Amino acid sequence: MKKNDLYRKTVKLSQREDKTYSARSLKQIIYSSDARDFGQVAKSIPCQAACPAATNIPGYIRCIYEKRYGRAYELNRICNILPGVLGRICSRPCEQACRHGSPDEGDSVAICHLKRACADLKSPMHRIIEGFYAPSGKSVAVVGSGPAGLAAAHELTLLGHRVSLYESEKKPGGMLMYGIPEFRLPRDILMLEIENILRLGVTLKTGTKIGKDISLESLSKDHDAVVVTAGCTAPRSLGIEGENLEQVYNGLDFMKAVNAGEKPFVGNKVLVIGGGFTAVDCARSSVRLGASDVRITMRKTVEYMRVDEHEKHEADFEGIRTQGLVQPKRIVSENGKVTGMELYHTKMEYMDRPPWRTTVPIENSEFFLPADSVIAALGQTPSPANVSQTLDGSDICESGCAMEGLFAAGDFVTGSSDVITAIAGGRRCAHSVDGFLTGKKRKETVVRLEPHESTDRSRSFDFIPLVGMNTLDLDERMKSATAEVESGFTEEQAEEEAKRCYLCNLKYEIDPLSCIYCSACIDVAPKDCIKMIAKVEINEDGTFGEYRETRNWNEAVSIAIDNERCIRCGQCVKVCPMDCISVTKTELIELDIEE
Ligand SMILES: Cc1cc2nc3c(=O)[nH]c(=O)nc-3n(C[C@H](O)[C@H](O)[C@H](O)COP(=O)(O)OP(=O)(O)OC[C@H]3O[C@@H](n4cnc5c(N)ncnc54)[C@H](O)[C@@H]3O)c2cc1C
Ligand code: SF4
Ligand code: SF4
Ligand code: SF4
Repeated sequence: MKKNDLYRKTVKLSQREDKTYSARSLKQIIYSSDARDFGQVAKSIPCQAACPAATNIPGYIRCIYEKRYGRAYELNRICNILPGVLGRICSRPCEQACRHGSPDEGDSVAICHLKRACADLKSPMHRIIEGFYAPSGKSVAVVGSGPAGLAAAHELTLLGHRVSLYESEKKPGGMLMYGIPEFRLPRDILMLEIENILRLGVTLKTGTKIGKDISLESLSKDHDAVVVTAGCTAPRSLGIEGENLEQVYNGLDFMKAVNAGEKPFVGNKVLVIGGGFTAVDCARSSVRLGASDVRITMRKTVEYMRVDEHEKHEADFEGIRTQGLVQPKRIVSENGKVTGMELYHTKMEYMDRPPWRTTVPIENSEFFLPADSVIAALGQTPSPANVSQTLDGSDICESGCAMEGLFAAGDFVTGSSDVITAIAGGRRCAHSVDGFLTGKKRKETVVRLEPHESTDRSRSFDFIPLVGMNTLDLDERMKSATAEVESGFTEEQAEEEAKRCYLCNLKYEIDPLSCIYCSACIDVAPKDCIKMIAKVEINEDGTFGEYRETRNWNEAVSIAIDNERCIRCGQCVKVCPMDCISVTKTELIELDIEE
């Protein structure tokens, strides 16, 4: 193994040329479609890799630090058309992957709260400018105006197609409008971001149910393509005695009623069954309807709740108890009124196939919990029959279905999921539709590599504690059932939180041809971020595999920066006598291409 072997020499550029370059000679922006660059981005920027929409997280966090809120909002909006919405209610898979949250590094960066900050703090004068393709003369119908439908409609419009968006409800937004409660997502924020999509020329037809008012077949005849983003509408039933009693609600119906301003009866004691978003929203809404004793029950342990920890924290704060490892047996009533529920205790068991773990009721473990109402929030499944009796659920996917020109996306394809997954699916589906309509691939994701300066990020930024979200106190929450609980970051808070990000999109590299192995960089390194390497394996795809570190200079064939440990303090750059440490900004971007 020679020292030079440590260095990636060739990248396949978007122009389809192989060029040899070194980090030091990277004087201009390069667009790469080399698997090694994609691999590096995925490995070094774990938050972006975990985001279903591949949002440029370090990019927008840096803009917030620089107080360029409008640009931060735009960077978000490229992949995710609803930043103000997602900044409030995203399921935050990125935060679970954030390097700052790994052991010994403290808490993850508040990526989601920062997303909200750029939406809140951008100037009211900020205007969104979007680039359109020339009109294609093709028309597309999108069925369902939830996040997947909105994302598909937006992308298809930018691609030059005429889009009609059909929605069975009176208002657009899907579960954002009818499922998620206002105290988590104010409707003016939602409508503002929906309007920003519609104003591009999307025709919205609300109160029009496909499969009832217009058949899917006639819609297909009238348009060049149809995208079904009808979500999950078939509720899962409890299948136990008492589930048809008047005070037993289906979670989604309950939330729809609450969001329509109705006040369904809940009484004092409420039992909610389920461990997802809907269950927690039903429980928190019950508290606002006056219930004093609200308990969420779930079959698995509480760790299996499918909500983010802020959501769980707020529910705890509002006095909601969560009991894991229990399963309803029957709902008990007297004279047609719910009096409580009989439940089993359950235990977790391993399975030999996914999902690997299940729960089973423990024999003779039945116990009784009193209740005035029960809410079954077990989730929904897609219902193709809701759109057309002829639609076969087994053949529905983003890239096309059995019926020519028919596509689908969002929860309708994946089953109950989350908003960012639905948005990512809607966008991907729009690209499949575009390929079908034009016979071309017109966009390609590449890695943009740009020479960059070392930043002013300092070691002290690592000791800033996580900035907590400002929230209403309990009295204020109960005064108005729709008052937004979280009130956002101030500019100062946003800056403090943005400082915590390690800017993992900046790749620090040592040029082994110029390095004189003086070890000055290793001496100032705040972490185990600069390694002396004795031997490296090169994988078949050209990426680096296992390497053996050494502390013995005589064995070293090279020294290299471990970008998964680097915190971008820039100390190594400052002390290097040979000026041989370079910084490259790496970003995933979509390029317009002509085949
Ligand atoms: C109470 C609740 C809380 C949630 N909280 C969160 C959260 O905090 N974070 C998160 O990430 N996710 C959350 N989710 C999940 C998230 O809302 C969904 O995953 C997401 O909305 C799915 O988007 P979609 O566009 O695929 O479908 P939907 O949002 O369900 O939209 C489908 C749309 O299609 C319309 N439609 C259906 N059939 C027809 C038809 N035949 N003709 C015309 N229109 C039709 C529907 O009316 C609806 O507007 C929550 C869900 C619920 C129910
Ligand atoms: S530190 Fe910043 S760039 Fe790195 S994973 Fe966390 S949010 Fe992403
Ligand atoms: S900038 Fe250099 S010294 Fe600082 S953490 Fe990264 S590799 Fe280490
Ligand atoms: S300070 Fe510069 S020259 Fe010295 S070992 Fe580090 S990279 Fe090489």
